[in-house]
Amino acid sequence: MDLTSVLPAEAIVEPQGRYLADLMGRGVQGRAEAVVFPSSTDEVAAVLRWCYEHDVPLTPRGGGTGLAGGAIPVEGGIVLGFERLNRVRQFDPLLWRMHVEAGVTTADVKRLARESGLRFPPDPGAAEMSQVGGNIACNAGGPHAFKYGVTGHWVTGLEAVVPPGEIVRVGGSVRKDVAGYDLKSLLVGSEGTLGLITAAWLRLVPAPELELPVVGLYADAEAGVSAIERVLASGVVPAAIEYLDAVTLTFAGGSYPFGVPAGGSFMVVTEADGDADEARRAAAELHDALGEDAIAVHSPTEPSDVDALWRWRAGAAFAILAQRGGAFSEDIAVPLDRLREVARETLEIGERHGVPALSFGHAGDGNIHSTFLFSPDDPDEERRADAACHDLFELALQLGGTVTGEHGIGWLKRGQLERQLGPTGHELHRRIKQAFDPKGLLNPGKKS
Ligand SMILES: Cc1cc2nc3c(=O)[nH]c(=O)nc-3n(C[C@H](O)[C@H](O)[C@H](O)COP(=O)(O)OP(=O)(O)OC[C@H]3O[C@@H](n4cnc5c(N)ncnc54)[C@H](O)[C@@H]3O)c2cc1C
Repeated sequence: MDLTSVLPAEAIVEPQGRYLADLMGRGVQGRAEAVVFPSSTDEVAAVLRWCYEHDVPLTPRGGGTGLAGGAIPVEGGIVLGFERLNRVRQFDPLLWRMHVEAGVTTADVKRLARESGLRFPPDPGAAEMSQVGGNIACNAGGPHAFKYGVTGHWVTGLEAVVPPGEIVRVGGSVRKDVAGYDLKSLLVGSEGTLGLITAAWLRLVPAPELELPVVGLYADAEAGVSAIERVLASGVVPAAIEYLDAVTLTFAGGSYPFGVPAGGSFMVVTEADGDADEARRAAAELHDALGEDAIAVHSPTEPSDVDALWRWRAGAAFAILAQRGGAFSEDIAVPLDRLREVARETLEIGERHGVPALSFGHAGDGNIHSTFLFSPDDPDEERRADAACHDLFELALQLGGTVTGEHGIGWLKRGQLERQLGPTGHELHRRIKQAFDPKGLLNPGKKS
């Protein structure tokens, strides 16, 4: 495979382990003939043109933190890594906008914004490793998506390379644009199957002056979900509404910074933000709404305590994983009035398959990480955990929800899309893919 006609030799490497997998688990290792690291949009275009001329599949790869197998090269060919496309092309803090290349990490975008008193709100959990291009390709969410929306909400324009190797710009630094079909939104969340995102124009907002979490602890899921409903009915708009169920607290509660009180079996984490007065007023209202029926309400105000709370919340996934060494953590989303059923039926599904089960996640968006644990040394238990995930996808559809609220279809949920969209929706989806990528070489085997 001679790619040296389009890239310098040092930008082409032999495929190595980590470039053939992502963080989905399930031991899936792809295969590739080469991994390439272009340094410019022109080089990305040259690689795709070469692939199109030689009928070679191409799998784009950001930080490799995806949880759906989206960056795994399941059909061979070339893996294209974006880490050398890592320039901030322009930052206009006074105009609340940034133009960055796809390989800049999520954390760097957030840091740069924060240094100028601004905020890039999307906060997916693996921000130090994930890239803004990967976030856009998955339309990633996170706890604060409840108030601020998912990644796509913050993208005003994209530069992308589309088959057979052309550079296209849709949108830009303009904040509104309704010309033509919304091609930008088609590329957002397309998981590398329609085009290679090389750069993005991002919208920012002034950072809130104050962030005040309010945490309620309850005897059971019923009381906790009722508290979430009271928060919504109160008219306050929290920045985040998260929940962690009893099993999650058993595994992660030991390091909760304020101590889980006896009998606390379901936790609701909310946050008020805004200017100081606004945040304090909203926090008081959240306290009222969460307080009814609560065993305890915690309202940290010191910035170090607030940081400790969110660090703990982000680390919960690792505490869970540590229990048995393996965990399949999915990301179904359901209408808010079906949260109770997700909390209850996740446990029932686990019981049916004989695997430990729990749920936690972005409750305000109905986006729950139902999780099934297994020991990697026990292939049968792993198979049962995987079967439990399939029952969970079925449950999401029965409840009027989606099989994925933020991780994407990737390779993991192949076959689920048709069930969710139905034959007509699925056919439209297929024709959009065909219009962008007639040879089917961009990230084959994904999002189908
Ligand atoms: C601990 C942990 C916590 C997480 N928390 C969250 C969370 O709260 N919310 C959430 O939404 N996700 C979360 N994730 C999942 C993951 O971090 C996100 O999906 C993230 O957006 C993936 O970005 P990445 O750069 O790592 O992409 P990758 O994993 O490399 O790729 C993901 C997909 O995007 C495609 N892709 C990557 N870059 C490009 C590009 N430039 N152009 C076109 N296609 C591209 C790939 O082909 C693949 O299909 C979490 C993951 C971990 C490990």
